Amino acid sequence: MRPFAYQSAKSPYAAVQAAAEQGGAVVHFLAGGTTLVDLMKLDVMRPASLVDINALRETDLGRIDATSRELRLGALVSMAQAADHPDIVRDFPVIAQSLRLAASQQIRNMASLAGNVLQRTRCTYFRDVSYAECNKRNPGSGCAAMDGFNRMHAVLGGSDHCIATYPGDFAQALIALDAMVEIVGPLGTRRMPFAALHRQPGDSPDAETTLEPGELIASFLVPAGPWTRRSLYLKVRDRESYEFALASAAVALDLRDGTVGEARIALGGVATVPWRATAAEAALRDKPLDDTSKQAAAEAAFADASARDHNAFKIDLGRRTLMRALDQAAAMEI
Ligand code: SF4
Repeated sequence: MRPFAYQSAKSPYAAVQAAAEQGGAVVHFLAGGTTLVDLMKLDVMRPASLVDINALRETDLGRIDATSRELRLGALVSMAQAADHPDIVRDFPVIAQSLRLAASQQIRNMASLAGNVLQRTRCTYFRDVSYAECNKRNPGSGCAAMDGFNRMHAVLGGSDHCIATYPGDFAQALIALDAMVEIVGPLGTRRMPFAALHRQPGDSPDAETTLEPGELIASFLVPAGPWTRRSLYLKVRDRESYEFALASAAVALDLRDGTVGEARIALGGVATVPWRATAAEAALRDKPLDDTSKQAAAEAAFADASARDHNAFKIDLGRRTLMRALDQAAAMEI
């Protein structure tokens, strides 16, 4: 691992200031460290300076607040805390399940929610610096995955420059439920839709989010809706523990006498970013939830999919995952 400067911060403002004082140097905030430290050891990430924000777990950044109208999740709440919180399990099951089905118990105990949504791709060529071609790690170098082994890569949202899959699960729950994200930065606090946080790769896959340098995620705000209790996360993977998704679906339904009022759908394991499937939602709205409407939603979700040599199976798997998730959501007793 390369040498780096280290300091800790006692408040969000102090953390942001500490980052700003590093000038143009690459600074990262250190919370659970379950992604960052791994990638520093692999020499993929090379920060000049780390600002340790673990002390902020004692502030609002470490709190969960649930009301009948909104769930607020502090950025430094651990994955395990949120996954086991009784209000979340009851009222926002898709969130609890997306967290419980991710990583291992040890990692969930350590990893923060903000770190989870900002985790980097598992593309082998990105994580192994012996491969020279990776536009995400080394802009302009090419993409070894295009003609390499791309079984785990994305079929939605890719570009000619990168097809790396977004690896997380929790983000699919957030984007499906129209969450907002609150951000602290050198100029103050701002909010934006969670859907605006991640960037598709386009011609600059190295730019993964819309966060400005030195900005820190403070919290996630999830509105309660008539669909949040009837919600779930279905994850299909090569093994049933400690594995990333081949395909997943976050589904929330407002179902009235078998007819869909509103549907909220996001897909994971198949796209370059947390993927809201709005065309699938439209295919279900005001329709009876039957085989015809579920098939139409699945077709719509993957209408723009594009496969490479080894990942075409994800298109059919993704469709079937979504249809199964809709079945399971419809059968929930709430
Ligand atoms: Fe790098 Fe993206 Fe290509 Fe993977 S898919 S090698 S992350 S540019």
